[in-house]
Amino acid sequence: MTANVSQYFSAKYAEARAKFLDAATTAGARLAHYRNPTRGPEGEDLFTDTSWVGPADADRVLLLISATHGVEGFCGSGVQVGWHQSGLAKDIPDGTAVLTVHASNPHGFAWLRRVTEENVDLNRNFVDHTADYPSNPAYEDLRDAICPRAWDDAAIAESGAVLNAYAEKHGGFALQEAITAGQYKHADGLFYGGNAPTWAAETLREILKKELGKARQVAVIDYHTGLGPRGHGERICVHAPGSPGLAGAESWYGGDITSPALGNSTSAELTGVNLVGIVDALPHAEVTGIALEYGTLPTDDVILSLRADNWLHAHGDPASAKGQAIKAQIRAAFYQDADDWKKMIWERGIETQRLALKGLSEE
Ligand SMILES: [Zn+2]
Repeated sequence: MTANVSQYFSAKYAEARAKFLDAATTAGARLAHYRNPTRGPEGEDLFTDTSWVGPADADRVLLLISATHGVEGFCGSGVQVGWHQSGLAKDIPDGTAVLTVHASNPHGFAWLRRVTEENVDLNRNFVDHTADYPSNPAYEDLRDAICPRAWDDAAIAESGAVLNAYAEKHGGFALQEAITAGQYKHADGLFYGGNAPTWAAETLREILKKELGKARQVAVIDYHTGLGPRGHGERICVHAPGSPGLAGAESWYGGDITSPALGNSTSAELTGVNLVGIVDALPHAEVTGIALEYGTLPTDDVILSLRADNWLHAHGDPASAKGQAIKAQIRAAFYQDADDWKKMIWERGIETQRLALKGLSEE
């Protein structure tokens, strides 16, 4: 089954979508399609697609999400395609269904961006937009260095020196936290959580309402890349310490999970993550969610690629030679186009899905 794992993965969004629709149709899934109002760089249509495998009235559901962070979709899509194609989709416990959301943020996937068409980090967008936004004073202090107006060797060196000085004073993790925790003030900045629900957030809510209205137990695996050692899949659980969600995840995954709130994750504590939106949308269900976060390149390289990409879309031309070089840089930071990496992604992915299905069946 693992002999040809690399074939599940795709080089472009459109290829990933075609493979997903094909594999899900072959597996006998029920499909639904949600059209994004924008288009891809080659004029292609963009969709979030879903598949449902299992009994229509199942009240235990495993929810699999790819491309919350657009460009990270190459990873999650590969596992989703393979799960449908390999025959694993035939092996679901009684009374349980699997709902797959392919390309939750299709615009970012197609454009090789982590953010949505609104320049919003979808995984910071699930806050109460009528209340005061969380503040991030460290981002404020560093924002000119995080997002400089120019992106050439001199600007990269100068802004890099400011960020390095902050890391020397407060530690490397504090710098990561300042940049990545989320900010709600600068619409042209990095890790911007938005000032309204994005199309992708509204679409996810619509999917949850339509598909999971009767669910009683919901397991969530949201596929991500860009943090941690290359190929390692960290199961990050953002349910609050002491909550049933965190206790459930600990039990299902044999303690092999991490918690940003408990300080043992490669991820900083974040605001407005999609799991919060999922829990809010499903008050009738018990939700046990994790992000499965796979390493690619060192964190410094990943953040550098995001800063370059932010500059490119705010001030540069994606079609230029420099733009294409930045696109290659960000792609490599979130997707390792190598057989050994894909094999690690696949094996950890299906093992995690197997444990989630087992956990659901025992609830
Ligand atoms: Zn991510």
